[in-house]
Amino acid sequence: MVLAYGASEALFSLPPELEEIKRLTRRIVDEQCIPLEQKFLTGDPAAAEGGMGELMVDGSLPPEDYARLRRISEETGLYTMHLPIEHGGGGFGVLGNFVVAEEIQRSIVQLPVAYVPIPLYACSEEQKERYLYPVIRSEKLSAFAQTEPQAGSDPGNSMQTRAVRRGDCWVLNGSKMFISGADEADFLMVLAVTDPEKRQRGGITMFLVDRGAPGVSIAPINVWLTPRRPHQFYVYFDDVEVPDANVLGDVGSGFLLGQQWLAIQDRLTRGSLATGILTRALEMAVDWAKQRITFGQPLAERQAIQWMLVDVFIDLKSIRAISYECAARADASLKVGSAVLPEDVRVLASMAKYVGGNWGHRSIDKIMQIFGGLGETLEMPIPHWYRQLRHGRIGGGTDEIQRMLIARAVLKHGKSLWQA
Ligand SMILES: Cc1cc2nc3c(=O)[nH]c(=O)nc-3n(C[C@H](O)[C@H](O)[C@H](O)COP(=O)(O)OP(=O)(O)OC[C@H]3O[C@@H](n4cnc5c(N)ncnc54)[C@H](O)[C@@H]3O)c2cc1C
Repeated sequence: MVLAYGASEALFSLPPELEEIKRLTRRIVDEQCIPLEQKFLTGDPAAAEGGMGELMVDGSLPPEDYARLRRISEETGLYTMHLPIEHGGGGFGVLGNFVVAEEIQRSIVQLPVAYVPIPLYACSEEQKERYLYPVIRSEKLSAFAQTEPQAGSDPGNSMQTRAVRRGDCWVLNGSKMFISGADEADFLMVLAVTDPEKRQRGGITMFLVDRGAPGVSIAPINVWLTPRRPHQFYVYFDDVEVPDANVLGDVGSGFLLGQQWLAIQDRLTRGSLATGILTRALEMAVDWAKQRITFGQPLAERQAIQWMLVDVFIDLKSIRAISYECAARADASLKVGSAVLPEDVRVLASMAKYVGGNWGHRSIDKIMQIFGGLGETLEMPIPHWYRQLRHGRIGGGTDEIQRMLIARAVLKHGKSLWQA
């Protein structure tokens, strides 16, 4: 009997237009980004362009290199391919974004693409002019401010930052912690308690707070990811007056908006970070294992090394499968501008986060091991990838919290979650 593998190909391949975009991105990354890595890693982080700190890798490029990469991205349409058509994008959505991100993550030098936090699609018409459109044009940068000194894993119950209505304003008091990019942000998407009784069930609101507003101040936090320049900050709100017109979405919908951002633009993206990095790292490790001779034979002949390569291969394919399912389901059910986050998407995003962070980390650890001492040198991307993937087990909700969220769903929905 001949197995007709081709017959079920549709199950295992991307739509042809996404395949094309993927190949295009891969070519650009190979030809334009990877050759700049050494220059980036030895560049002064203080000179990094806006938003580059989000990479969690220390380094910088001369402005003309950034400008050239941005131009290539814009001219090929990659820059906005994932944005909704009604906002001038290509409409390739969450899966399109994931596929392109995987390719981009293969290099430490990132091809720029528009970064639009999805809560901003809930902007009112007037807010769109001040926030959404400038962000789409990359004229303004934002930061997401949920975590607080006393509220990390459990923001719903523990958030202290309060917003109290006064006339046509809200007055914000409190402090946030670990806010990435708060120094470069033009505005912050701040979660604050507006109804202490309801809290995460309708009592938390998202505010668009201009970074320069009176009463907003920041202080740096030094994190091992970027030891030469801090990218995380405390943000303090001291009687900050925020106009009613700066409430994003409905009063009380902030926690859901935040969860939507976390699921799609943080947790799921840990999947693309891992698959992108591991795609290149595995290729490098296979080449290396074939050429490095010890005790008269290439490393690739040793079963100890083969099993590490295979473990990474299995992790990579598994992370990708879970993440693609999450992205495809998100495209099928998320509505632009709505705070709704379907539960299947939320659970799959937690899974993508868990495997992207935890398995991504264990895999890059094996890659480092295969390279021996070379794997620890800062001229190689490996230590930088190691830090990025290790951080994936904490930032955006820890391993333990993802497992807790998945456990709730498993106990609530049972086999309907996993029955084929
Ligand atoms: C580099 C970096 C960038 C970040 N960027 C941002 C940002 O831009 N915006 C933002 O809002 N936040 C940001 N964060 C915050 C991040 O999301 C939190 O650090 C993370 O959610 C964990 O919260 P925590 O640090 O308070 O840990 P804690 O909540 O104090 O947890 C400590 C440990 O206890 C475990 N734990 C907690 N509760 C349980 C439980 N019920 N069962 C079992 N174990 C449990 C945790 O898993 C963890 O291992 C960033 C953090 C870092 C380090």
